[in-house]
Amino acid sequence: QKRAQKGGVGIFDESLREQLLREIRLRDHLENAIHRHELFLVFQPILEAKTNRIAAVEALLRWRLDNEYIPPDEFINIAEQYGFIKPIGLWVLGEACMAGKRLQQLVPDLSVCVNVSIQQLLDENFPEDVKATLERTGFRPENLHLEITESLFAHDKHRLIENISRLKKVGIEVSIDDFGTGYSSLSVMQEFDVDLVKIDRTFIWTMDQGGRAIVEAVSQIASSFGYQVVAEGVETEEQKQILTDMGIDYLQGYLFLHPVTEEEMVEHLNIQAS
Ligand code: C2E
Ligand code: CA
Ligand code: CA
Ligand code: CA
Repeated sequence: QKRAQKGGVGIFDESLREQLLREIRLRDHLENAIHRHELFLVFQPILEAKTNRIAAVEALLRWRLDNEYIPPDEFINIAEQYGFIKPIGLWVLGEACMAGKRLQQLVPDLSVCVNVSIQQLLDENFPEDVKATLERTGFRPENLHLEITESLFAHDKHRLIENISRLKKVGIEVSIDDFGTGYSSLSVMQEFDVDLVKIDRTFIWTMDQGGRAIVEAVSQIASSFGYQVVAEGVETEEQKQILTDMGIDYLQGYLFLHPVTEEEMVEHLNIQAS
């Protein structure tokens, strides 16, 4: 709407109009997407670099609307903008814990990583909701990792510190996602009680053009603060080798496995176990 006013109706750009119509259509459908069973989770493994063992899976949300897959980078924004992210985020958490519980029959100490939005994290009730979800599903708190993006820290710091510390009291782990891309410095992060940082994939992809020094520096500083380190977006053997040699703790990326359905993940874990 804002954009329409700015441009004026007369010179209203056709592609912008299409974009707006699409956004409205997505918004209207997203509201009922849970009830229509259009949302589901896929899972991508996170491997311990030293052993190649699957230590965790990241739950990633998918939306199939009619016959189209809407990418999360598009619909998560819409969910945040129109106030659907809290119910959707809570649904994701419940589904991820239930799936995690089932997958733990194959890998008993498997952790599950769940992405959370700023609006969820700023919600007073969130720590209690997380606790209730863990109790309802019987999933162990120490195996739940909540991934929060670094840019979060530009928001209400006191509320964030308080909610993160309440979450830590529930017994879960907290990870910083997309590390290196946000606003905050490591010194700001020191104030937050986090367990793990995930170095953003853009750094992993530029390791052959100088990114390597950045990855190394981030990894050393993170380790010195006592954070474990994950490298995401690992696509080549070469990247895997460099990261392993650097002493990065965990690796995730298409080299190992694309995000897959729970059934496919079960198959994959079975193969690993045999
Ligand atoms: P993210 O948390 O950084 O998730 C990693 C993204 O990178 C995923 O994209 C994953 O499929 C992709 N990826 C993993 N390995 C590789 C690789 O080796 N190469 C490349 N090119 N990509 C790789 P996806 O599933 O499209 O998710 C995009 C973003 O949407 C996520 O980024 C996350 O920020 C958000 N998202 C996904 N699910 C949820 C959710 O349940 N809640 C919230 N709040 N956000 C979510
Ligand atoms: Ca993530
Ligand atoms: Ca990430
Ligand atoms: Ca992200």
